[in-house]
Amino acid sequence: MKGKAGGARRARSGRADALAGGAVYSSRLENHRMADKQDEKKVTARSVDFAAWYNEIIARAELADHSPVRGCIVFRPDGFAIWEALRDELDRRIKKTGARNAYFPLFIPQSFLHKEAQHVEGFAPEVAVVTHGGGKELEEPLIVRPTSETIINYMFAQWIHSHRDLPLMINQWCNVVRWEMRTRPFLRTTEFLWQEGHTAHATKAEAEREALTMLEVYRAFVEDYLAVPLVTGRKSAAERFPGAEETYSIESLMGDGRALQCGTSHYLGDNFARAFEIRFLDTQNQLQHPHQTSWGVSTRLLGAIIMSHGDDQGLRLPPAVAPLQAVIVPIWRKAEEGEPVLAAARAARDTLEGAGVRVRLDDREGLTPGFKFNDWEMRGVPVRIEIGPRDVAARNAVLARRDRLGREGKATASLDGLAAHVSALLDDVQQSFYTQARDAMRANTRQFDDYAKFRAQMEGEGGGGMADVYWCGSAACETRIREETRATCRAIPLGQSGAAGRCLVCGEAAQERAFFAKAY
Ligand code: ZN
Repeated sequence: MKGKAGGARRARSGRADALAGGAVYSSRLENHRMADKQDEKKVTARSVDFAAWYNEIIARAELADHSPVRGCIVFRPDGFAIWEALRDELDRRIKKTGARNAYFPLFIPQSFLHKEAQHVEGFAPEVAVVTHGGGKELEEPLIVRPTSETIINYMFAQWIHSHRDLPLMINQWCNVVRWEMRTRPFLRTTEFLWQEGHTAHATKAEAEREALTMLEVYRAFVEDYLAVPLVTGRKSAAERFPGAEETYSIESLMGDGRALQCGTSHYLGDNFARAFEIRFLDTQNQLQHPHQTSWGVSTRLLGAIIMSHGDDQGLRLPPAVAPLQAVIVPIWRKAEEGEPVLAAARAARDTLEGAGVRVRLDDREGLTPGFKFNDWEMRGVPVRIEIGPRDVAARNAVLARRDRLGREGKATASLDGLAAHVSALLDDVQQSFYTQARDAMRANTRQFDDYAKFRAQMEGEGGGGMADVYWCGSAACETRIREETRATCRAIPLGQSGAAGRCLVCGEAAQERAFFAKAY
């Protein structure tokens, strides 16, 4: 159901290095010691060890830390701020579709999980169970929600009586727990944060439309706001959500050539409505089961941002979600230059703040400009603004963009038009991150009509990338691909040309192309 292949051991060895690096780094900051470029420990190169690089970025950019409970992470303020930014924007977009937020309990009676056969089969192995409370054994054990279909549908049965109660569209932002054996920060953790939408509709057509509407809401949000390029489509039967009739997915390709499922939207048919006896009187006064959907994205999206955009210098954050969009670094040598430079830098900060830019003036003492440049590059701040004595004299500032390092990414802007200039630059950087990630994904997406070549690609260096192939749709061919290459069907695109081809595996007639990749 959820490709759990590979990478765990490498991730664990990388974790120790990352923590050691992070500790050295923060003690330097706290002591305000001088440190220059040569002295600063570099992040492990992405191309050398992607898993170690990923863990180091998270530690050194102070996004998250490991918790004393295995498989759980602590979101540090810079990591949580990214989550808050994307949560607020997605919440706005979800509400625009007509769904409203509610909150359901963390604990669910264990018997609820058993009401839908596929659902229990899918989730029982990873459910945490509470057997004692208040010092006594509970009459019925409680599960800690792995997802909330069961308790929400139990409540829906009490709220839905007539067609006038429909559609009922509920969303909740919460934590869920899935007892994972192999965990990685943000990508797969035992407890994670997400939103889960649950809707009930009078007709099948309406529910199917809702599932596709949310797929498009997610696609637009992730591509526009997180600048993460996607392929979208429906899942194969083997990859479907337990209890769903159809699962739709947004999938991206990470910098190491492995796919990441970024969100799913499910058409549930009336499976849960039957299991939980949800019925309504339709306009003809007939009792009917509503048709339902559920859909969710999680803190896994933070992993998508890191792995799509990060480079060897560290994190790169799309301006839309960056806790800090711009940082001002004042530069001077002679003592008498300090005050005018700082005054100009403070004025620039106030101007940008007034224009709604999330900006910080880095006036920390005892740190060289070079150290500060590296520090903010590592933390992924999209735009750096340098102001020195000559800039003050000329009423200028130098703007450096995180998406293009070095001289090429630098430009001079007038301090008088700074707010407009920085706002336009942030838009441009946002677009540039998307374009860079999309080009990387295209370069690592290949069509195959020869199974041996496909297999060699998946077994080779570089994670394998995304394969775009004809597949006959049989479970046998899908299983063979998974067992021989560890690649799984990520998505079967909607709206295909309809041109027939030959299945990559068995050579029989195939009507559809599908994306296969090794996945997180
Ligand atoms: Zn086949």
